[in-house]
Amino acid sequence: MYFNSKTIFALIFVLVFSFFILKIKIIKKVGNKFNLFFIVLILFINFGNDLRRALKYDFERYFNIPFIKFHKEVFANNEILVESLKMRNSYMQIANSHSKTKALENIKNIVLIIGESSRRSAYQDYGQLLNTTPNLLSIENKIIYSDVIAPYSSTNPVMSVMLNFANLDNLSERKFYENLDIVNLFKLANYKTFWISNQDYVSEWGNNAASIGIMSDFAYFSNQYISSSETLAYAKYDEVLLPILNDLKLSDNNFISIHLLGNHGNYKKRYPKTFAKFSESDIKENTKDKKSISEYYNSILYTDYIIYSIYERFKDDDTLIIYLSDHAESLYDDKTKSLLGHGVSDKIIADIPFIILYSNSFKTNHKELLDKLILSKDLAFMSDDLIHLLCDIAGIKIAEFEESRSPINKKYNKFRIRLFANEINYDNFLKLD
Ligand SMILES: [Zn+2]
Repeated sequence: MYFNSKTIFALIFVLVFSFFILKIKIIKKVGNKFNLFFIVLILFINFGNDLRRALKYDFERYFNIPFIKFHKEVFANNEILVESLKMRNSYMQIANSHSKTKALENIKNIVLIIGESSRRSAYQDYGQLLNTTPNLLSIENKIIYSDVIAPYSSTNPVMSVMLNFANLDNLSERKFYENLDIVNLFKLANYKTFWISNQDYVSEWGNNAASIGIMSDFAYFSNQYISSSETLAYAKYDEVLLPILNDLKLSDNNFISIHLLGNHGNYKKRYPKTFAKFSESDIKENTKDKKSISEYYNSILYTDYIIYSIYERFKDDDTLIIYLSDHAESLYDDKTKSLLGHGVSDKIIADIPFIILYSNSFKTNHKELLDKLILSKDLAFMSDDLIHLLCDIAGIKIAEFEESRSPINKKYNKFRIRLFANEINYDNFLKLD
């Protein structure tokens, strides 16, 4: 996805350029006026325009200036990559220090579907004109949230704050894994917990989702026998999870997390041939790579089928389903108009779909809750606070729960500063882009 002729050219250029700079012996002869002039010129050529744009209107450019980016990553690193065992021990220790609690709302199934690289605008419910999500469109019992963003632009950082009581505002107080996690939260509330994943299995390091998922009463990882780097290339389609879901031994209260591979590149590896409905001629976007975009939309069509199949599995029970994506995806329509993928702080990559589906019996059994959910659909929300919303939905009273972080709560703080990727104020700098 990222390694192409441009990258190779840039690498060669940097190498050759570095070679000449080293020849000048900058450090020793910096007193030489010509060299000093040369250094300033190089800095200006490289970063002058970034600085100009940053000062003028584009605040986020500050963080893309290499010195600042380097400093931030080295000295202000919030330690996303942690040994998995260390995380799990910490989560277990925290869970053990809690006493059992109750889930007052008594919902039979709470299903959390975690999508992958799915952009809001690819869904018909969010205005997509292509027929990408006909199944979702046909479901009546749903709530479409209009203003939910991801906290970071790539999977692992998102998972470090989405599945526990860590959030971008308390990372400076304690490490993200020194918080109660979502699986143990529901266990404490006497829910049976399930984790069904088509993503990476627990690796030794830095798998922030699986390290939590594996603590569930029942955990299934389809990619257990391949390394995490191979997952994207060799993983099966998400439908591999459907038979597992059908065979679940449910109890009275169930918290079921389903982690999809969804719409991660390489897109054409995410769906079987029967879903190859869109082709280059369907793509209106003015870009040279319409093929990749059409493949992306095919993967969305497939995700629509997967979500619908999950809905069908649970719709005859008392069920609430939350579907959201970890982060979104640029199809060459980020600010630089050059990125196919994610991992940069851009509005396109922050804007995720957030959809709630519910069964008819949920509608009858939880009228008041449903009203609150519907009322909250247009509030600004960032998914690092998902656990607070879940607490409020399930009626779990626990010390960590903050009413101001649950959009269905009267005390919700709708003016929270949403600092996307911990660096850009989304509402001030990105939202209106
Ligand atoms: Zn991701």
